[in-house]
Amino acid sequence: MADFLERKIGDLTIRIDRGTCIGTGNCMKLGEEVFDFDPEKICTFKDPLGDIERDQLIEACHVCPVDALIVIDAAGTQLVP
Ligand code: SF4
Repeated sequence: MADFLERKIGDLTIRIDRGTCIGTGNCMKLGEEVFDFDPEKICTFKDPLGDIERDQLIEACHVCPVDALIVIDAAGTQLVP
């Protein structure tokens, strides 16, 4: 299985580093529309993705304790971590 998953959500690119995720679920508490556990309790994208505000999505990625969620804007600037 791929260690990295990536989705474009609005103007943001969200990347999940699944090899780093330790399954705390923090991201899902703030971003349940976007993040979910796979059967192995590793973070994955919801399918289909729900609607989420841009700021809420950034915050949901920001709360990952191991920096497994990467956010890059349209200009290529990394916003998280
Ligand atoms: S907050 Fe980070 S470590 Fe916790 S489930 Fe989400 S991606 Fe994994």
